[in-house]
Amino acid sequence: MVYKNIRNLPPKQSGKTRHSRYINTLSQIAINVEPVAQARIAAGIVYRNNLISIGVNRSKTHPFQKRYCKNEDAIYLHAETDVIKNVINKITLDNLSKCVLYICRVKIEKGKFVFGLAKPCDGCMKAISTFNIRKVYYTLDNGGYDWLWKM
Ligand SMILES: [Zn+2]
Repeated sequence: MVYKNIRNLPPKQSGKTRHSRYINTLSQIAINVEPVAQARIAAGIVYRNNLISIGVNRSKTHPFQKRYCKNEDAIYLHAETDVIKNVINKITLDNLSKCVLYICRVKIEKGKFVFGLAKPCDGCMKAISTFNIRKVYYTLDNGGYDWLWKM
């Protein structure tokens, strides 16, 4: 898909933390996501400082999403459930609990991509909690990020 008059560049986090680095990697993926209800979201799972799995939101149904949806209408794969679905064949559930989940949303504002709020919905929180992922970092509107830690 080609965008006219849009600077087709991924937004970048200003900080120099490793969290910013992972989010910036996801940002490059998110700008190429076919938007679903205008949402372009990429999620990544990091294990021992390696990005081992990627997921994106898409207008595709999947039995995995059905199990972790916030309501009966939320049938499409969310980036968070997609990345968890993709990673569960790669590592043990025990190691999954040592992973960090990153979620990056981008949106178009005034002709260019900026960050958007990527806080997981209730359905995704259910999946995150079921698989015992203890740390989640997500982008905020127009820059920066926030996190959720399971105590
Ligand atoms: Zn969700």
